[in-house]
Amino acid sequence: MTSITDKPISAIVYSHYHLDHIGGTDTLIELNNKKYPSKAKRGLRIIASKQVNDNIKQYADFSNNGSINPKVPVPTETFSKRMKTINFGNQKLVLNTLKGAGHTKDNTLILLPKERVLHFVDMINPDQLPFYNFAGAEHFPRGYIRDLNYLISDKFCAKWDFINGGHGNIGTKTDIYKLLDYIHDLTLATKEVLNSTNYPTIKADGNHFIWFKRWQNTITKSVKERLRNKYSHMYGFDAGVVESHAAMVLNELIDH
Ligand SMILES: [Zn+2]
Repeated sequence: MTSITDKPISAIVYSHYHLDHIGGTDTLIELNNKKYPSKAKRGLRIIASKQVNDNIKQYADFSNNGSINPKVPVPTETFSKRMKTINFGNQKLVLNTLKGAGHTKDNTLILLPKERVLHFVDMINPDQLPFYNFAGAEHFPRGYIRDLNYLISDKFCAKWDFINGGHGNIGTKTDIYKLLDYIHDLTLATKEVLNSTNYPTIKADGNHFIWFKRWQNTITKSVKERLRNKYSHMYGFDAGVVESHAAMVLNELIDH
C-alpha cells in the first residue's frame, strides 16, 4: 500500500464475493488503522452491490449461539440497482453489475471514466489462457460471452482503453477479441472432435463413470492438440487448462 500512496485508505470497493479478492480486507484495514490512527476513529467506507452483500451473509460462519460471523468486513454502503456512481474525493467510479453474470452473479465491473480504465476481475487475464474451468465461471458460455461482448459493444467500447483482470497483465480491447476468438476456436474444435470420436462400449469397463471419464479425456486431449499451433505460446497451455475448458464446452454441447 505504501508503495502506491502516502495517503490512508478511505474507501474499499468489493468487486465480488471471492476470498482471493476480498479475503485480505481485515488485514488491510488493520494496517491502515495502525499507520493512520486518526483515520481509524472515523472509519472506512466499504462499498458493494447488494448481491455481494447477500453472498457475504450466505457464506458467513454460524456460531453455536446462532450469531453470524462474516468472513470479511460487511459493507457500509450497498446499492441494489445495476449501476452506481461513487466518488472518492475527485476520483469517480462507475460500478456495473453486468447481466451476463459470466463469472458470478455479483461480479461488478468497475470503470474509472476519467482514466478510461476497467477493473473487471476473473474474466480475462491478457497473455494467459483463462484459468482452469474459465476461472470457475458460473455462467459459461452464454453469460460469459455476453459480458465480454458488452465490453466491446457500441454502447460501452468508447469508454475505456485498458482492462485489469486481477490476476495478470493489463490489457486492451484486442485482448477481449483474442479471448472471444479462443472460445470460438475451442468450441469449433470440440464440436469436430465430438462428431468424429467413437463411443467405446460401456460393457468393457462395467462402470459408466469410468467410461464417461475416459471418453471425456480422449476428446479434451484431442481438442488441445488441435489448438496447439495457435495457442501453445500462451501461458498455461500445457498445464491442463485447455482440457478443462474443452470439458466445459463438451458438457454444454451434450447437456444443452
Ligand atoms: Zn472470482
